[in-house]
Amino acid sequence: MSISAVKIRLVGIVQGVGFRPFVYRLATRLGLRGYVVNRGGAEVEIFVEGDDDKINRFMMLLEREKPPPALFEEIFIERSSPLNLRDFRILKSVYDRSRRSMIPPDVAICEECSREIKDPSSRFFRYYWNSCAWCGPRFSMIYRTPYDRENTSMRKYLLCEKCRHDYEDPDNIRRFHAEGISCPICGVRTYLYDNRGRKIDLREDLVDFISKEILKGSIVAIKGVGGYHIAALASRDDVVLELRRRKKRPQKPFALMAKDLDVVKRLVYLNEKAEKILRSPQRPILILPKRDDAPVSEYVAPELSSLGIMLPYTGFQILLLDKIPDGFLIMTSGNIHGRPMCIDLDCVLRELSEIVDYIVEHDREIIHRVDDSVIRFTDEEPVFLRRSRGYAPMWIKTSFDIGEYVAVGAELQVAGAVSFENKIIPTQFIGDLDDPGNLQDLERELRWFIEIYDIKPRAIVMDMHPLYHNRDVAKKLAEIYETRLVEAQHHHAHITSLMIEEGYEPDEMSIGVAIDGTGYGVNGEIWGGEILLSRYDRFVRLGSLRPFNLPGGDSSAEYPVKSLIGMMVLRRYSLEEVIKILKTRDLVKTLPYKEEEAEITYWLSYKKKGVETSSLGRTLDGISALLGVCSIRTYEGEPPIKLESLADRGVYLRNIDLEIPLLYQDDRLMIDASYVIEYLINNFSKNIDTKDLAATILYSIGRAFGEAVIKAVRGYRISRNEILVSGGAAVNTHIIRGIREIARENNLLVKINRKIPPGDGGISVGQIAIASSITGSYD
Ligand SMILES: [Zn+2]
Ligand SMILES: [Zn+2]
Repeated sequence: MSISAVKIRLVGIVQGVGFRPFVYRLATRLGLRGYVVNRGGAEVEIFVEGDDDKINRFMMLLEREKPPPALFEEIFIERSSPLNLRDFRILKSVYDRSRRSMIPPDVAICEECSREIKDPSSRFFRYYWNSCAWCGPRFSMIYRTPYDRENTSMRKYLLCEKCRHDYEDPDNIRRFHAEGISCPICGVRTYLYDNRGRKIDLREDLVDFISKEILKGSIVAIKGVGGYHIAALASRDDVVLELRRRKKRPQKPFALMAKDLDVVKRLVYLNEKAEKILRSPQRPILILPKRDDAPVSEYVAPELSSLGIMLPYTGFQILLLDKIPDGFLIMTSGNIHGRPMCIDLDCVLRELSEIVDYIVEHDREIIHRVDDSVIRFTDEEPVFLRRSRGYAPMWIKTSFDIGEYVAVGAELQVAGAVSFENKIIPTQFIGDLDDPGNLQDLERELRWFIEIYDIKPRAIVMDMHPLYHNRDVAKKLAEIYETRLVEAQHHHAHITSLMIEEGYEPDEMSIGVAIDGTGYGVNGEIWGGEILLSRYDRFVRLGSLRPFNLPGGDSSAEYPVKSLIGMMVLRRYSLEEVIKILKTRDLVKTLPYKEEEAEITYWLSYKKKGVETSSLGRTLDGISALLGVCSIRTYEGEPPIKLESLADRGVYLRNIDLEIPLLYQDDRLMIDASYVIEYLINNFSKNIDTKDLAATILYSIGRAFGEAVIKAVRGYRISRNEILVSGGAAVNTHIIRGIREIARENNLLVKINRKIPPGDGGISVGQIAIASSITGSYD
């Protein structure tokens, strides 16, 4: 038997998740000697000595049995000489002040805690906010780092005798030094209010009462981890329609929460990958294909082939769903249209009293609003639509030292970001910045991260768009922190966000496709269908969708028919033809001023009085309108989303001539997607199935982008055999499949963002990369 020793350094989420007691247990179980110590930053050092076989076993089990929220980003293993230690110990933390730690994200209630709240013999029986080292809120309740109880909103709850005992007992693997623990005696209190703010004294159990009310059709605000949900019955049309009426939200889908995977399986099609994501400690909303026989109201996600579902992540949610016979509820965020989700009772009473009948309130303060994260599958790979609860504020590692910067993002679905060393930290999801509340949140959160991480920004970076609301935030931050402002081009930032994820070095060159609804081009045009050759510090626009002239620019996005008219002008249809086609397709009525508006739009576009746009979003708007899929937009991205949803049920028609032409014009390669419009107009009489048409069109657009990349990049040297695809439309499965097909024929891979959203929620990461490379953080 040979005795040896190893030193292991683990970097990642290894603090504040019960990791040291776990290591202690594992080592003593195997009869190994040594120590474990927190090393500040996001690092734990382990030293073990003993029998070789046992050390190998230890290393294996370290990964396999680690606490659920623990995550190893990096593992360094070093052979060492035995120190002849007598036992295994948890050493006092050594904090190197210069090291900056990862702030742990919020973690869903773990299985053990869930079991306790259902066990009448447990002292945590029916305790709604039960948590342990392995689970519970973190980021949403932290005032400052490090993550110790006195730095969180748990500080006002003094541990009772039993909790104190658990906290100090190293054998209590889940509660030893668990900062967020509490119990029904010493912990978070829950109250019920009516919608006028009057407290209701209940004689019965709160969950019993609320579940009965929900079953009767009541709509209820429920305070959770990072904000409030609005809960309602999802199986009754009248309830869902009433919620839509009260929330003034005619079409946008509502998320569901389902009791368990069996219930989920009755609603959507589920595979192993999806199950794993649903059950993960992050518990995001996952968008999955809806079953035709799903027992859910059709008004939950009108005209969509998918449903957004999550599993419960607090004790309250678990106990509530247990009382709902269907096993699922609508759980949509507690906000009014466009406003931030409420995080306190004042906000609920001010903004939601007309929407909800009751309010379930608890007295733990929410310090950071953290919305539910949303993930979907794109060509069978998970992609973020919104990165927030469970993931924020984990950092993204860069392959080089990026330096200290602050980015304010774009305009919609914003998350900001800060950076230092080789890390970029995107904030949680903030929202659309045309709302002053979201704008304030962006500034507040960025300032919090700047202070917490003691960042001395070398620059504040913003989008080039002159009208974006966060320019003021950027200017203010530049003044406060006495630093310069830098502008980043929207689509370049999309591509560089993916270059960061893929570990591109500063001297590497990528070829990328940036596709989205809208972004400000360097020439004042609206871009959104771009082929870019990029390094971090510069880019060349090698190609794009062929632009059409859109009167009213972005403000026309609400009326997809305007994009359609713009595309028809590009295809040289006469006014008479345009009006005739709009009439046969019954589209004139979708414009507020009907035929007159159609005519004015035609002439403005014809005389090029509008804005030139190469946006894929607007292009898909026009196609959606002509196909009759969506001709009035009630939420961001609705026409393309509905087009994709339809396409999901269609097949790619290989025998029709939908090859989108490419042409050289103005020194770049252009993809002429307006050809699709002409194709449709010429072939309506053939009665091709709309589902198949939708699928084939999206796939053909993808193929056209793929072919354009191959042509455009000829003669240039790119660093890697891959095409980077980013931007909000990069989540579209059919477009990605089209690009992939062409890429495969040319021995190229297609990459899309996986750690951050490909949409505007991920753009701040790319902005930082651009700012860092052009202001040079190396001197
Ligand atoms: Zn737990
Ligand atoms: Zn207690």
